[in-house]
Amino acid sequence: MPYQNRSTAPRGARPGHRSFGGNNQGGQRRSSGGGGNRRGAYIHPSKFINKAVTKAEEVIYESKHEFMDFAFSPDLQHNIVEKGYKIPSAIQDQAIPLILDGRDVIGLANTGTGKTAAFILPIIEKIRGGQMFNSVLIMAPTRELAVQIDEQFREFSRGMRLFSALCVGGMNIERQIRDLRRRPHVIIGTPGRLKDLMKRRELKLDTVEYLVLDEADRMLDMGFINDIREIVDQTSRDRQTLFFSATITPTIQSLVNTFLRDPVEVSVRTSETAEHVEQDIIEARDKDHKLDTLVQMLGGEDFDKVLVFGETKFGVQRLSDHLEQNGFSSVAIHGNKSQSQRQRALKSFKENKVNIMVATDVAARGLDIPNVSHVINFDQPATYEDYVHRIGRTGRGGASGKAFTFVPMQNTQNRR
Ligand code: AMP
Repeated sequence: MPYQNRSTAPRGARPGHRSFGGNNQGGQRRSSGGGGNRRGAYIHPSKFINKAVTKAEEVIYESKHEFMDFAFSPDLQHNIVEKGYKIPSAIQDQAIPLILDGRDVIGLANTGTGKTAAFILPIIEKIRGGQMFNSVLIMAPTRELAVQIDEQFREFSRGMRLFSALCVGGMNIERQIRDLRRRPHVIIGTPGRLKDLMKRRELKLDTVEYLVLDEADRMLDMGFINDIREIVDQTSRDRQTLFFSATITPTIQSLVNTFLRDPVEVSVRTSETAEHVEQDIIEARDKDHKLDTLVQMLGGEDFDKVLVFGETKFGVQRLSDHLEQNGFSSVAIHGNKSQSQRQRALKSFKENKVNIMVATDVAARGLDIPNVSHVINFDQPATYEDYVHRIGRTGRGGASGKAFTFVPMQNTQNRR
């Protein structure tokens, strides 16, 4: 890798960089507080450096159950086998029996923990064979996450004659109205579109018996709190509520207090993704220097599947265009692209047709993309929490991953 010999090379390989700050261990994970103030938080560069904890030191969760132990129908068991799941993940192991028991659950879990199946599987078991329409409502912060949940629902409920309607912004609303009129069992959507459909009197929620709020902290970050309250208000009071969030802030706690009844908390935040990801900084003088360095890095041998984060929609598009001009095929996902463009881009990255994706935080939130070898923060994230989310796209499921963050040169010299 030619860039390693330059003064801007990642510092991880140099002896002595530990004195700079060393292992961050996730101490400031809650820096954003879940509120709307996402600008201007200075993050010391030492927070972007971490020698990955070696695999031998990892504590592997020992599941108490096998999938066969859960009271699932043979159909569902069959679909789990078909999907290739062998051992329940920690959140599945702990949450599934509680959900089957009818308890409200708070799942403290981030993406990559298997939280989707942790709620989808017991819900399928509960509604299976029934004729209850609109009985499940699943809310998620982004279209992409909602699409992923819908995909998992369809795979796990195959052959059971259970139907879902996907109600997300940026997609044709008429089609969603048609789907809702067909009386689906499960509704999966983002708060804005769900509210829109409610206003048009196309969505009635008084029959909802199972309510899932996925990535609640992200939904609040995105300003959906009032929409969420209005939507949840329309659902049955006797419902079972499952609430997933990576963090518990005071606002989240107040939602939990109003929405859930005698909940059980399951926490699988473990050591979080950050510790398993080798992290380092790259010093750069200015934007051109960053662009040059990035292009050199991408030519490196082990940069197999790279997710590059930029700050703005325009910046992300420009960066993707710049990479194209330099011979690196890439896709960009950001809010200025239509939903179908975003889906197409994501698909080609997931399927390794393109091995570089440039994204904004919002567009990449919660996405499940396997085998990302490197995350590169071309622009620094607004908060440390965003940083942990970003780098959590790599090093998943025990795979090793690396994250590099560009920092201005003077920061590393003057601001220790
Ligand atoms: P999630 O955290 O729900 O986004 O899941 C992350 C990824 O892990 C997805 O690709 C899931 O299909 C996969 N996954 C979830 N649970 C299991 C399991 N028990 N065994 C194997 N893969 C799983």
